[in-house]
Amino acid sequence: MRELRGIAASPGTALAPAYFFFDDYSSSIPSFSISSEDVASEFSRFLEATEEAKADVIVLRDKALKEAGEEHAAIFDAHLMMLDDPEIKESVELRLSSFLLNVESIIFSLEREMIDKLSSSQDPYMQERVTDIHDVVRRILGHLLHRERIDLADIDMDVIIVARELLPSDMITMARERIKGIVTESGGRTSHAAILARAFQIPAVLGVGAFVSDVKALTPLIVDGDRGVVVIDPDGEALKKERAAHSMRIRKESAFKSIRDLPATTKDGERIFLKANIEVPEEVRSAVEYGADGIGLFRSEFLFLGGHIPGEEAQFKAYKQVVEAMGDKPVTIRTLDIGGDKVLPEFGAQDEKNPLLGWRAIRFCLSKPEIFRTQLRAILRASVYGDVRIMFPMISALGELVEARGILEQAQWECKAKSLRVPDHIKAGIMIEVPSAALCSDILARSADFFSIGTNDLTQYTLAVDRGNEKVAYLHNPLDPAVLRLIKMTIDTARKAGIEVSLCGEMGADPAAAVLLVGLGLRELSMSSVSIPAVKSLLLSVTLKEAQQTAEVIMTMTSPSEAASFLADRFTL
Ligand code: PEP
Ligand code: MG
Repeated sequence: MRELRGIAASPGTALAPAYFFFDDYSSSIPSFSISSEDVASEFSRFLEATEEAKADVIVLRDKALKEAGEEHAAIFDAHLMMLDDPEIKESVELRLSSFLLNVESIIFSLEREMIDKLSSSQDPYMQERVTDIHDVVRRILGHLLHRERIDLADIDMDVIIVARELLPSDMITMARERIKGIVTESGGRTSHAAILARAFQIPAVLGVGAFVSDVKALTPLIVDGDRGVVVIDPDGEALKKERAAHSMRIRKESAFKSIRDLPATTKDGERIFLKANIEVPEEVRSAVEYGADGIGLFRSEFLFLGGHIPGEEAQFKAYKQVVEAMGDKPVTIRTLDIGGDKVLPEFGAQDEKNPLLGWRAIRFCLSKPEIFRTQLRAILRASVYGDVRIMFPMISALGELVEARGILEQAQWECKAKSLRVPDHIKAGIMIEVPSAALCSDILARSADFFSIGTNDLTQYTLAVDRGNEKVAYLHNPLDPAVLRLIKMTIDTARKAGIEVSLCGEMGADPAAAVLLVGLGLRELSMSSVSIPAVKSLLLSVTLKEAQQTAEVIMTMTSPSEAASFLADRFTL
Protein backbone atom coordinates (compact mmCIF):
# COMPACT_ATOMS: atom_id res chain seq x y z
CA MET A 1 0.00 0.00 0.00
CA ARG A 2 1.19 3.53 -0.78
CA GLU A 3 -0.26 7.00 -0.19
CA LEU A 4 0.24 10.00 -2.42
CA ARG A 5 -0.69 13.60 -1.80
CA GLY A 6 -2.01 16.00 -4.40
CA ILE A 7 -4.49 18.84 -4.81
CA ALA A 8 -7.98 18.19 -3.44
CA ALA A 9 -9.67 19.32 -6.66
CA SER A 10 -13.17 17.88 -6.35
CA PRO A 11 -14.75 16.60 -3.10
CA GLY A 12 -15.92 13.09 -2.18
CA THR A 13 -14.16 9.74 -2.05
CA ALA A 14 -14.14 6.71 -4.33
CA LEU A 15 -12.79 3.17 -4.37
CA ALA A 16 -12.38 1.45 -7.75
CA PRO A 17 -9.73 -0.13 -9.99
CA ALA A 18 -7.30 2.11 -11.84
CA TYR A 19 -7.98 2.66 -15.53
CA PHE A 20 -4.96 4.04 -17.31
CA PHE A 21 -5.61 6.69 -19.82
CA PHE A 22 -2.39 7.10 -21.75
CA ASP A 23 -3.13 8.84 -24.93
CA ASP A 24 0.54 9.40 -25.48
CA TYR A 25 2.05 9.09 -28.91
CA SER A 26 5.48 10.41 -27.98
CA SER A 27 7.23 7.03 -27.88
CA SER A 28 6.01 5.94 -31.31
CA ILE A 29 6.33 8.92 -33.62
CA PRO A 30 8.01 7.74 -36.81
CA SER A 31 10.97 9.88 -37.87
CA PHE A 32 12.59 9.62 -41.30
CA SER A 33 14.12 11.81 -44.00
CA ILE A 34 12.19 12.84 -47.09
CA SER A 35 13.35 14.28 -50.41
CA SER A 36 12.46 17.80 -51.50
CA GLU A 37 9.95 16.34 -54.00
CA ASP A 38 8.02 14.81 -51.08
CA VAL A 39 7.52 18.14 -49.26
CA ALA A 40 4.29 19.01 -51.07
CA SER A 41 2.68 15.60 -50.46
CA GLU A 42 3.74 15.60 -46.79
CA PHE A 43 2.25 19.07 -46.43
CA SER A 44 -1.04 17.98 -48.01
CA ARG A 45 -1.14 14.99 -45.59
CA PHE A 46 -0.87 17.57 -42.82
CA LEU A 47 -3.70 19.69 -44.29
CA GLU A 48 -5.93 16.63 -44.65
CA ALA A 49 -5.28 15.52 -41.06
CA THR A 50 -6.03 19.07 -39.92
CA GLU A 51 -9.39 19.02 -41.72
CA GLU A 52 -10.25 15.65 -40.12
CA ALA A 53 -9.24 16.99 -36.72
CA LYS A 54 -11.50 20.01 -37.30
CA ALA A 55 -14.46 17.75 -38.03
CA ASP A 56 -13.82 15.92 -34.70
CA VAL A 57 -13.59 19.18 -32.78
CA ILE A 58 -16.85 20.51 -34.26
CA VAL A 59 -18.64 17.37 -33.00
CA LEU A 60 -17.05 17.81 -29.56
CA ARG A 61 -17.98 21.48 -29.52
CA ASP A 62 -21.66 20.65 -30.08
CA LYS A 63 -21.59 17.94 -27.40
CA ALA A 64 -19.96 20.33 -24.93
CA LEU A 65 -22.50 23.03 -25.73
CA LYS A 66 -25.37 20.63 -25.08
CA GLU A 67 -23.97 19.00 -21.94
CA ALA A 68 -21.74 21.55 -20.27
CA GLY A 69 -22.68 24.99 -21.56
CA GLU A 70 -21.35 27.79 -23.69
CA GLU A 71 -18.09 28.54 -21.90
CA HIS A 72 -16.86 24.95 -22.04
CA ALA A 73 -17.79 24.79 -25.71
CA ALA A 74 -15.60 27.88 -26.15
CA ILE A 75 -12.53 25.75 -25.35
CA PHE A 76 -13.16 23.96 -28.61
CA ASP A 77 -13.56 27.23 -30.48
CA ALA A 78 -10.01 27.98 -29.34
CA HIS A 79 -8.96 24.57 -30.72
CA LEU A 80 -10.63 25.35 -34.05
CA MET A 81 -8.78 28.66 -34.20
CA MET A 82 -5.49 26.82 -33.68
CA LEU A 83 -6.37 24.36 -36.43
CA ASP A 84 -7.06 27.28 -38.77
CA ASP A 85 -4.03 29.32 -37.73
CA PRO A 86 -2.17 30.30 -40.95
CA GLU A 87 1.04 30.91 -38.98
CA ILE A 88 1.13 27.30 -37.78
CA LYS A 89 0.50 26.06 -41.32
CA GLU A 90 3.28 28.28 -42.69
CA SER A 91 5.60 27.12 -39.96
CA VAL A 92 4.94 23.43 -40.76
CA GLU A 93 5.55 24.02 -44.49
CA LEU A 94 8.77 25.94 -43.85
CA ARG A 95 10.11 23.26 -41.51
CA LEU A 96 9.25 20.48 -43.95
CA SER A 97 11.32 22.11 -46.69
CA SER A 98 14.14 23.18 -44.36
CA PHE A 99 14.60 19.95 -42.35
CA LEU A 100 13.38 17.42 -44.96
CA LEU A 101 11.80 15.22 -42.30
CA ASN A 102 8.39 13.50 -42.32
CA VAL A 103 5.45 15.61 -41.20
CA GLU A 104 4.78 13.63 -37.96
CA SER A 105 8.22 14.39 -36.57
CA ILE A 106 7.99 18.03 -37.71
CA ILE A 107 4.67 18.48 -35.87
CA PHE A 108 5.96 16.67 -32.82
CA SER A 109 9.05 18.90 -32.56
CA LEU A 110 6.98 22.04 -33.22
CA GLU A 111 4.66 21.03 -30.38
CA ARG A 112 7.65 20.53 -28.01
CA GLU A 113 8.95 23.98 -28.93
CA MET A 114 5.58 25.70 -28.32
CA ILE A 115 5.08 23.83 -25.06
CA ASP A 116 8.60 24.57 -23.77
CA LYS A 117 8.02 28.26 -24.40
CA LEU A 118 4.70 28.27 -22.54
CA SER A 119 5.82 25.98 -19.70
CA SER A 120 8.68 28.29 -18.74
CA SER A 121 6.08 30.97 -17.96
CA GLN A 122 5.18 31.36 -14.27
CA ASP A 123 1.69 32.30 -15.32
CA PRO A 124 -0.86 29.52 -14.59
CA TYR A 125 -3.02 30.72 -17.50
CA MET A 126 -0.16 30.26 -19.98
CA GLN A 127 0.60 26.85 -18.49
CA GLU A 128 -3.03 25.86 -19.03
CA ARG A 129 -2.67 26.69 -22.76
CA VAL A 130 -0.13 23.82 -22.96
CA THR A 131 -3.07 21.48 -22.45
CA ASP A 132 -4.89 22.94 -25.45
CA ILE A 133 -1.85 22.64 -27.74
CA HIS A 134 -1.36 19.07 -26.63
CA ASP A 135 -5.04 18.26 -27.26
CA VAL A 136 -4.95 19.68 -30.81
CA VAL A 137 -1.60 18.12 -31.79
CA ARG A 138 -2.60 14.74 -30.41
CA ARG A 139 -5.69 14.83 -32.59
CA ILE A 140 -3.76 15.73 -35.78
CA LEU A 141 -1.16 13.03 -35.08
CA GLY A 142 -3.96 10.53 -34.45
CA HIS A 143 -5.27 11.13 -37.96
CA LEU A 144 -1.81 11.10 -39.55
CA LEU A 145 -1.03 7.78 -37.89
CA HIS A 146 -4.57 6.46 -38.54
CA ARG A 147 -4.97 5.55 -34.90
CA GLU A 148 -8.23 5.19 -33.12
CA ARG A 149 -8.20 7.51 -30.15
CA ILE A 150 -8.75 5.81 -26.82
CA ASP A 151 -12.29 6.78 -26.08
CA LEU A 152 -13.28 7.42 -22.49
CA ALA A 153 -16.90 7.26 -23.64
CA ASP A 154 -16.59 3.47 -24.14
CA ILE A 155 -15.66 2.55 -20.57
CA ASP A 156 -18.20 0.02 -19.32
CA MET A 157 -17.06 -0.70 -15.76
CA ASP A 158 -16.67 1.46 -12.66
CA VAL A 159 -13.12 2.85 -12.65
CA ILE A 160 -10.84 5.57 -11.41
CA ILE A 161 -9.19 7.32 -14.32
CA VAL A 162 -5.44 7.66 -13.91
CA ALA A 163 -3.75 9.97 -16.39
CA ARG A 164 -0.78 12.26 -16.79
CA GLU A 165 -3.34 14.97 -17.49
CA LEU A 166 -6.93 15.17 -18.66
CA LEU A 167 -7.76 17.47 -21.51
CA PRO A 168 -11.03 19.37 -21.90
CA SER A 169 -12.12 17.00 -24.69
CA ASP A 170 -11.48 13.97 -22.43
CA MET A 171 -13.67 15.44 -19.70
CA ILE A 172 -16.52 16.15 -22.10
CA THR A 173 -16.47 12.75 -23.83
CA MET A 174 -15.96 10.46 -20.81
CA ALA A 175 -18.68 8.03 -19.69
CA ARG A 176 -19.35 10.04 -16.55
CA GLU A 177 -21.59 7.53 -14.79
CA ARG A 178 -18.71 4.99 -14.91
CA ILE A 179 -15.94 7.32 -13.76
CA LYS A 180 -15.90 7.13 -9.96
CA GLY A 181 -12.78 9.22 -9.46
CA ILE A 182 -9.94 11.00 -11.20
CA VAL A 183 -6.21 11.12 -10.44
CA THR A 184 -3.77 13.07 -12.56
CA GLU A 185 -0.06 13.74 -12.34
CA SER A 186 -0.43 17.39 -13.31
CA GLY A 187 -3.14 20.07 -13.09
CA GLY A 188 -4.34 22.54 -10.47
CA ARG A 189 -7.59 23.62 -8.83
CA THR A 190 -8.44 26.06 -11.59
CA SER A 191 -7.62 23.69 -14.47
CA HIS A 192 -10.54 22.71 -16.65
CA ALA A 193 -10.29 19.13 -15.43
CA ALA A 194 -10.81 20.36 -11.85
CA ILE A 195 -13.66 22.73 -12.68
CA LEU A 196 -15.47 20.09 -14.72
CA ALA A 197 -14.86 17.35 -12.11
CA ARG A 198 -16.55 19.60 -9.52
CA ALA A 199 -19.39 20.43 -11.91
CA PHE A 200 -19.92 16.70 -12.64
CA GLN A 201 -19.44 15.75 -8.95
CA ILE A 202 -16.59 13.30 -9.58
CA PRO A 203 -14.07 13.13 -6.69
CA ALA A 204 -10.64 14.18 -8.00
CA VAL A 205 -7.07 14.54 -6.78
CA LEU A 206 -4.86 16.35 -9.27
CA GLY A 207 -1.19 17.19 -9.43
CA VAL A 208 0.11 14.15 -7.49
CA GLY A 209 3.40 14.21 -9.43
CA ALA A 210 4.92 11.34 -11.46
CA PHE A 211 3.50 8.02 -10.33
CA VAL A 212 1.48 6.65 -13.22
CA SER A 213 4.27 4.44 -14.56
CA ASP A 214 4.73 2.62 -11.20
CA VAL A 215 1.11 1.46 -10.93
CA LYS A 216 -0.34 -1.58 -12.72
CA ALA A 217 -3.66 -1.49 -14.59
CA LEU A 218 -6.71 -2.36 -12.46
CA THR A 219 -4.82 -1.87 -9.17
CA PRO A 220 -7.43 -0.82 -6.58
CA LEU A 221 -7.22 2.87 -5.68
CA ILE A 222 -8.90 5.10 -3.14
CA VAL A 223 -9.34 8.71 -4.22
CA ASP A 224 -10.02 11.08 -1.36
CA GLY A 225 -10.98 14.37 -2.99
CA ASP A 226 -11.68 15.99 0.39
CA ARG A 227 -8.14 15.56 1.70
CA GLY A 228 -6.21 15.37 -1.60
CA VAL A 229 -4.97 11.83 -0.92
CA VAL A 230 -4.67 8.79 -3.21
CA VAL A 231 -4.17 5.32 -1.68
CA ILE A 232 -2.64 2.77 -4.09
CA ASP A 233 -3.46 -0.87 -3.45
CA PRO A 234 -5.06 -0.20 -0.06
CA ASP A 235 -4.55 -2.81 2.68
CA GLY A 236 -7.38 -4.32 4.76
CA GLU A 237 -7.22 -1.52 7.30
CA ALA A 238 -7.43 1.25 4.65
CA LEU A 239 -10.29 -0.55 2.90
CA LYS A 240 -12.15 -0.85 6.19
CA LYS A 241 -11.64 2.87 6.82
CA GLU A 242 -12.84 3.78 3.33
CA ARG A 243 -15.91 1.56 3.70
CA ALA A 244 -16.67 3.10 7.09
CA ALA A 245 -16.21 6.58 5.64
CA HIS A 246 -18.39 5.60 2.69
CA SER A 247 -21.26 4.32 4.88
CA MET A 248 -20.92 7.37 7.10
CA ARG A 249 -21.18 9.58 4.01
CA ILE A 250 -24.25 7.69 2.80
CA ARG A 251 -25.85 8.02 6.23
CA LYS A 252 -24.99 11.72 6.33
CA GLU A 253 -26.26 12.20 2.80
CA SER A 254 -29.58 10.57 3.59
CA ALA A 255 -29.80 12.62 6.80
CA PHE A 256 -28.96 15.69 4.74
CA LYS A 257 -31.58 14.73 2.14
CA SER A 258 -34.18 14.62 4.86
CA ILE A 259 -33.42 18.26 5.75
CA ARG A 260 -32.90 19.36 2.15
CA ASP A 261 -36.29 21.02 1.83
CA LEU A 262 -36.41 22.38 5.36
CA PRO A 263 -35.61 26.07 5.60
CA ALA A 264 -32.26 26.65 7.31
CA THR A 265 -32.95 28.03 10.78
CA THR A 266 -31.48 27.91 14.23
CA LYS A 267 -33.11 25.49 16.70
CA ASP A 268 -35.41 28.28 17.87
CA GLY A 269 -36.47 29.25 14.36
CA GLU A 270 -34.23 32.18 13.35
CA ARG A 271 -34.06 31.99 9.53
CA ILE A 272 -30.53 31.78 8.12
CA PHE A 273 -30.21 31.91 4.33
CA LEU A 274 -27.66 29.44 2.97
CA LYS A 275 -26.69 30.18 -0.61
CA ALA A 276 -24.27 28.58 -3.07
CA ASN A 277 -20.99 29.81 -4.57
CA ILE A 278 -20.60 28.74 -8.18
CA GLU A 279 -17.88 29.07 -10.80
CA VAL A 280 -19.62 27.73 -13.92
CA PRO A 281 -23.33 27.71 -14.85
CA GLU A 282 -23.58 23.88 -14.67
CA GLU A 283 -22.91 24.03 -10.93
CA VAL A 284 -26.34 25.53 -10.52
CA ARG A 285 -27.66 21.94 -10.72
CA SER A 286 -25.87 20.98 -7.51
CA ALA A 287 -26.96 24.26 -5.88
CA VAL A 288 -30.59 23.21 -6.46
CA GLU A 289 -29.85 19.62 -5.42
CA TYR A 290 -28.35 20.71 -2.08
CA GLY A 291 -31.25 23.05 -1.36
CA ALA A 292 -29.45 26.40 -1.73
CA ASP A 293 -31.51 29.51 -0.96
CA GLY A 294 -30.00 31.20 -4.01
CA ILE A 295 -26.61 31.90 -5.55
CA GLY A 296 -24.65 34.14 -3.19
CA LEU A 297 -21.57 34.35 -5.40
CA PHE A 298 -21.24 33.59 -9.10
CA ARG A 299 -17.50 33.94 -9.80
CA SER A 300 -18.04 35.20 -13.35
CA GLU A 301 -14.31 35.31 -14.15
CA PHE A 302 -14.38 31.57 -14.84
CA LEU A 303 -16.31 32.37 -18.03
CA PHE A 304 -13.24 34.31 -19.13
CA LEU A 305 -10.60 31.70 -18.28
CA GLY A 306 -11.41 29.29 -21.13
CA GLY A 307 -8.90 30.87 -23.49
CA HIS A 308 -11.04 33.62 -24.96
CA ILE A 309 -13.05 36.63 -23.86
CA PRO A 310 -16.78 35.89 -24.09
CA GLY A 311 -18.90 38.49 -25.86
CA GLU A 312 -22.13 40.06 -24.56
CA GLU A 313 -24.39 37.36 -26.05
CA ALA A 314 -22.37 34.43 -24.66
CA GLN A 315 -22.29 36.06 -21.22
CA PHE A 316 -25.99 36.92 -21.36
CA LYS A 317 -26.83 33.27 -22.13
CA ALA A 318 -24.64 31.98 -19.28
CA TYR A 319 -26.14 34.39 -16.72
CA LYS A 320 -29.70 33.77 -17.97
CA GLN A 321 -29.17 30.00 -17.67
CA VAL A 322 -28.26 30.41 -13.99
CA VAL A 323 -31.01 32.94 -13.22
CA GLU A 324 -33.72 30.82 -14.85
CA ALA A 325 -32.53 27.63 -13.14
CA MET A 326 -32.82 29.36 -9.74
CA GLY A 327 -36.43 30.46 -10.37
CA ASP A 328 -37.43 33.18 -7.92
CA LYS A 329 -34.37 32.66 -5.70
CA PRO A 330 -31.81 35.47 -5.76
CA VAL A 331 -28.60 35.28 -7.81
CA THR A 332 -25.64 37.52 -7.04
CA ILE A 333 -23.30 37.87 -10.01
CA ARG A 334 -19.88 39.18 -9.16
CA THR A 335 -18.26 41.20 -11.91
CA LEU A 336 -14.94 40.10 -13.33
CA ASP A 337 -12.42 39.39 -10.55
CA ILE A 338 -9.45 38.95 -12.83
CA GLY A 339 -5.79 39.59 -11.99
CA GLY A 340 -3.83 38.39 -9.00
CA ASP A 341 -3.53 34.67 -9.59
CA LYS A 342 -6.09 34.66 -12.44
CA VAL A 343 -4.21 36.33 -15.27
CA LEU A 344 -5.42 36.90 -18.81
CA PRO A 345 -2.51 37.76 -21.09
CA GLU A 346 -4.82 38.84 -23.92
CA PHE A 347 -5.88 41.79 -21.76
CA GLY A 348 -2.30 42.97 -21.76
CA ALA A 349 -1.56 42.07 -18.13
CA GLN A 350 2.07 42.81 -17.42
CA ASP A 351 4.22 40.85 -15.03
CA GLU A 352 3.62 42.64 -11.77
CA LYS A 353 5.88 42.50 -8.72
CA ASN A 354 2.90 42.14 -6.37
CA PRO A 355 -0.04 40.97 -8.48
CA LEU A 356 -2.32 40.50 -5.46
CA LEU A 357 -1.80 44.16 -4.59
CA GLY A 358 -1.94 45.27 -8.19
CA TRP A 359 -4.12 45.51 -11.25
CA ARG A 360 -6.92 43.25 -10.03
CA ALA A 361 -10.69 42.95 -9.99
CA ILE A 362 -12.48 46.34 -9.94
CA ARG A 363 -9.19 48.16 -10.66
CA PHE A 364 -8.83 46.15 -13.85
CA CYS A 365 -12.48 46.68 -14.85
CA LEU A 366 -12.39 50.44 -14.27
CA SER A 367 -9.37 50.69 -16.56
CA LYS A 368 -11.10 48.58 -19.24
CA PRO A 369 -14.57 50.19 -19.35
CA GLU A 370 -15.44 48.47 -22.66
CA ILE A 371 -15.03 45.00 -21.16
CA PHE A 372 -16.76 46.12 -17.95
CA ARG A 373 -19.76 47.66 -19.74
CA THR A 374 -20.15 44.56 -21.93
CA GLN A 375 -20.37 42.40 -18.83
CA LEU A 376 -22.75 44.80 -17.07
CA ARG A 377 -25.07 44.91 -20.10
CA ALA A 378 -25.14 41.09 -20.18
CA ILE A 379 -25.98 40.94 -16.45
CA LEU A 380 -28.65 43.65 -16.73
CA ARG A 381 -30.32 41.83 -19.63
CA ALA A 382 -30.28 38.52 -17.73
CA SER A 383 -31.70 40.17 -14.63
CA VAL A 384 -35.18 40.55 -16.11
CA TYR A 385 -35.48 36.73 -15.90
CA GLY A 386 -35.26 36.58 -12.09
CA ASP A 387 -33.94 38.22 -8.94
CA VAL A 388 -30.40 39.38 -9.78
CA ARG A 389 -27.90 41.46 -7.86
CA ILE A 390 -24.57 42.82 -9.09
CA MET A 391 -21.52 42.67 -6.87
CA PHE A 392 -18.22 44.53 -7.36
CA PRO A 393 -15.09 42.72 -6.12
CA MET A 394 -12.14 44.14 -4.16
CA ILE A 395 -13.52 47.62 -3.56
CA SER A 396 -10.93 49.40 -1.43
CA ALA A 397 -12.27 52.96 -1.45
CA LEU A 398 -15.46 54.94 -2.10
CA GLY A 399 -14.13 56.42 -5.38
CA GLU A 400 -14.03 52.98 -7.00
CA LEU A 401 -17.60 52.23 -6.01
CA VAL A 402 -18.89 55.58 -7.30
CA GLU A 403 -17.08 55.08 -10.61
CA ALA A 404 -18.35 51.50 -10.95
CA ARG A 405 -21.92 52.66 -10.32
CA GLY A 406 -21.48 55.37 -12.97
CA ILE A 407 -20.42 52.74 -15.52
CA LEU A 408 -23.37 50.57 -14.49
CA GLU A 409 -25.69 53.50 -15.27
CA GLN A 410 -24.06 53.95 -18.67
CA ALA A 411 -24.54 50.26 -19.41
CA GLN A 412 -28.21 50.63 -18.49
CA TRP A 413 -28.59 53.56 -20.90
CA GLU A 414 -26.83 51.66 -23.66
CA CYS A 415 -29.30 48.79 -23.31
CA LYS A 416 -32.27 51.14 -23.25
CA ALA A 417 -30.97 52.98 -26.32
CA LYS A 418 -31.04 49.63 -28.15
CA SER A 419 -34.56 48.94 -26.79
CA LEU A 420 -33.25 45.97 -24.82
CA ARG A 421 -35.32 45.04 -21.78
CA VAL A 422 -33.46 45.90 -18.54
CA PRO A 423 -34.69 46.78 -15.04
CA ASP A 424 -34.88 50.42 -13.92
CA HIS A 425 -33.16 49.52 -10.70
CA ILE A 426 -30.84 46.66 -9.83
CA LYS A 427 -29.27 46.06 -6.42
CA ALA A 428 -25.53 46.74 -6.60
CA GLY A 429 -23.33 45.76 -3.68
CA ILE A 430 -19.70 45.15 -2.90
CA MET A 431 -17.35 42.51 -1.57
CA ILE A 432 -15.72 43.47 1.71
CA GLU A 433 -12.38 41.74 1.28
CA VAL A 434 -9.81 44.47 1.82
CA PRO A 435 -9.21 45.85 5.34
CA SER A 436 -9.73 49.45 4.16
CA ALA A 437 -13.25 48.51 3.00
CA ALA A 438 -14.11 46.99 6.37
CA LEU A 439 -12.64 49.96 8.25
CA CYS A 440 -14.56 52.43 6.06
CA SER A 441 -17.68 50.30 5.72
CA ASP A 442 -19.78 53.15 7.15
CA ILE A 443 -18.69 55.38 4.25
CA LEU A 444 -19.20 52.62 1.65
CA ALA A 445 -22.62 51.70 3.06
CA ARG A 446 -23.96 55.03 1.77
CA SER A 447 -23.43 53.93 -1.84
CA ALA A 448 -23.76 50.13 -1.62
CA ASP A 449 -27.03 48.19 -1.54
CA PHE A 450 -25.36 45.30 0.28
CA PHE A 451 -22.07 43.91 1.56
CA SER A 452 -20.70 40.41 1.13
CA ILE A 453 -17.69 39.61 3.28
CA GLY A 454 -14.99 37.71 1.35
CA THR A 455 -13.00 36.10 4.14
CA ASN A 456 -10.52 34.40 1.79
CA ASP A 457 -9.08 37.73 0.68
CA LEU A 458 -9.93 39.65 3.86
CA THR A 459 -7.76 37.17 5.80
CA GLN A 460 -5.01 37.38 3.20
CA TYR A 461 -4.86 41.17 3.20
CA THR A 462 -5.40 41.67 6.94
CA LEU A 463 -2.72 39.21 8.01
CA ALA A 464 -0.38 39.82 5.02
CA VAL A 465 -0.49 36.11 4.15
CA ASP A 466 -0.58 35.01 0.51
CA ARG A 467 -3.58 32.65 0.43
CA GLY A 468 -1.93 30.48 -2.27
CA ASN A 469 1.49 30.08 -0.63
CA GLU A 470 1.74 26.71 1.16
CA LYS A 471 4.77 27.92 3.19
CA VAL A 472 2.64 30.44 5.09
CA ALA A 473 -0.70 28.60 4.86
CA TYR A 474 -0.66 27.96 8.62
CA LEU A 475 -1.08 31.72 9.15
CA HIS A 476 -4.14 32.07 6.89
CA ASN A 477 -6.88 31.73 9.48
CA PRO A 478 -10.13 33.76 9.51
CA LEU A 479 -10.48 33.01 13.25
CA ASP A 480 -7.60 35.39 13.90
CA PRO A 481 -8.89 38.17 16.21
CA ALA A 482 -7.86 40.83 13.67
CA VAL A 483 -10.06 39.28 10.97
CA LEU A 484 -12.93 38.62 13.38
CA ARG A 485 -12.91 42.25 14.50
CA LEU A 486 -13.15 43.44 10.87
CA ILE A 487 -16.00 40.99 10.22
CA LYS A 488 -17.88 42.22 13.28
CA MET A 489 -17.26 45.84 12.37
CA THR A 490 -18.69 45.24 8.87
CA ILE A 491 -21.79 43.45 10.19
CA ASP A 492 -22.47 46.14 12.80
CA THR A 493 -22.04 48.95 10.27
CA ALA A 494 -24.32 47.31 7.70
CA ARG A 495 -27.03 46.75 10.29
CA LYS A 496 -26.78 50.38 11.44
CA ALA A 497 -26.99 51.60 7.86
CA GLY A 498 -29.93 49.26 7.18
CA ILE A 499 -28.30 47.37 4.31
CA GLU A 500 -28.01 43.60 3.80
CA VAL A 501 -24.80 41.86 4.78
CA SER A 502 -23.68 38.32 4.03
CA LEU A 503 -20.46 36.30 3.84
CA CYS A 504 -19.18 34.27 0.89
CA GLY A 505 -15.64 33.19 1.88
CA GLU A 506 -14.68 29.59 2.66
CA MET A 507 -15.09 30.34 6.38
CA GLY A 508 -18.88 30.03 6.08
CA ALA A 509 -18.56 26.42 4.85
CA ASP A 510 -17.17 25.32 8.24
CA PRO A 511 -20.29 24.46 10.31
CA ALA A 512 -18.84 25.61 13.66
CA ALA A 513 -17.57 28.87 12.15
CA ALA A 514 -21.04 29.34 10.64
CA VAL A 515 -22.54 29.22 14.16
CA LEU A 516 -20.04 31.87 15.25
CA LEU A 517 -20.96 34.06 12.26
CA VAL A 518 -24.66 33.78 13.05
CA GLY A 519 -23.80 34.76 16.62
CA LEU A 520 -21.99 37.80 15.25
CA GLY A 521 -25.18 38.85 13.47
CA LEU A 522 -25.07 37.32 9.99
CA ARG A 523 -28.29 35.84 8.57
CA GLU A 524 -26.91 34.89 5.17
CA LEU A 525 -23.91 32.73 4.23
CA SER A 526 -22.79 31.54 0.81
CA MET A 527 -20.58 28.48 0.28
CA SER A 528 -19.87 25.61 -2.10
CA SER A 529 -23.14 23.66 -2.54
CA VAL A 530 -21.80 20.45 -1.01
CA SER A 531 -21.15 22.26 2.28
CA ILE A 532 -24.73 23.49 2.71
CA PRO A 533 -26.25 20.35 4.34
CA ALA A 534 -23.60 20.07 7.07
CA VAL A 535 -23.91 23.77 7.94
CA LYS A 536 -27.71 23.57 7.94
CA SER A 537 -27.67 20.44 10.10
CA LEU A 538 -25.55 22.07 12.82
CA LEU A 539 -27.52 25.34 12.75
CA LEU A 540 -30.76 23.39 13.28
CA SER A 541 -29.33 22.07 16.55
CA VAL A 542 -28.14 25.38 18.04
CA THR A 543 -30.26 28.21 19.45
CA LEU A 544 -29.62 31.82 18.50
CA LYS A 545 -28.74 32.55 22.12
CA GLU A 546 -26.09 29.79 22.08
CA ALA A 547 -24.65 31.19 18.84
CA GLN A 548 -24.53 34.69 20.35
CA GLN A 549 -22.86 33.42 23.53
CA THR A 550 -20.30 31.59 21.39
CA ALA A 551 -19.54 34.81 19.51
CA GLU A 552 -19.21 36.76 22.77
CA VAL A 553 -16.68 34.27 24.16
CA ILE A 554 -14.69 34.00 20.91
CA MET A 555 -14.39 37.79 20.61
CA THR A 556 -12.48 37.84 23.92
CA MET A 557 -9.91 35.31 22.68
CA THR A 558 -6.38 36.23 21.75
CA SER A 559 -5.43 33.70 19.09
CA PRO A 560 -7.00 31.69 16.26
CA SER A 561 -5.93 28.39 17.83
CA GLU A 562 -7.78 29.24 21.05
CA ALA A 563 -10.91 30.07 19.04
CA ALA A 564 -10.59 26.91 16.91
CA SER A 565 -10.29 24.57 19.90
CA PHE A 566 -13.23 26.26 21.63
CA LEU A 567 -15.39 25.71 18.53
CA ALA A 568 -14.16 22.13 18.09
CA ASP A 569 -14.97 21.27 21.73
CA ARG A 570 -18.41 22.77 21.52
CA PHE A 571 -19.60 21.74 18.09
CA THR A 572 -18.88 18.37 16.58
CA LEU A 573 -21.12 17.04 13.85
C1 PEP B 1 -13.11 35.81 -0.94
O1 PEP B 1 -12.10 36.48 -1.18
O2 PEP B 1 -13.41 35.44 0.21
C2 PEP B 1 -14.02 35.41 -2.02
C3 PEP B 1 -15.18 34.82 -1.77
O3 PEP B 1 -13.62 35.65 -3.30
P1 PEP B 1 -12.56 34.73 -4.09
O4 PEP B 1 -12.31 33.49 -3.26
O5 PEP B 1 -13.17 34.43 -5.40
O6 PEP B 1 -11.37 35.63 -4.17
MG1 MG C 1 -11.88 37.42 -3.12
